[in-house]
Amino acid sequence: MSVMKIHKGDQVMVISGKESGKAGKVLRVDKEKRRVVIERLNMAKRHTRPNPKKNPQGGVIEREAPIHASNVMLVCPACGQSTRVGYRFTDDGTKVRVCRRASCGKDIDRV
Ligand SMILES: [Zn+2]
Repeated sequence: MSVMKIHKGDQVMVISGKESGKAGKVLRVDKEKRRVVIERLNMAKRHTRPNPKKNPQGGVIEREAPIHASNVMLVCPACGQSTRVGYRFTDDGTKVRVCRRASCGKDIDRV
């Protein structure tokens, strides 16, 4: 199992499927299934029973459905473009993600 390149809180761009071309913030990451939930993207209707605490009416609610991590690309916070992710190690051995765009190459994670 390889490491997830997408982390919670990242901005990502969807590159395939019905939400292709849209960008949003990652709310949750499922490492086992390699899926990510992106804010307000891939909305799916869910039929729910009435729940006295959360949803007394029941009925249909819309929620974000997970998208496979292979269908999204990270948006680099430095250059603002979707990019593949590389890694480097800082002097103290911390692993940080870097933008693989040749014109950028900046750190994605704050050191
Ligand atoms: Zn960049």
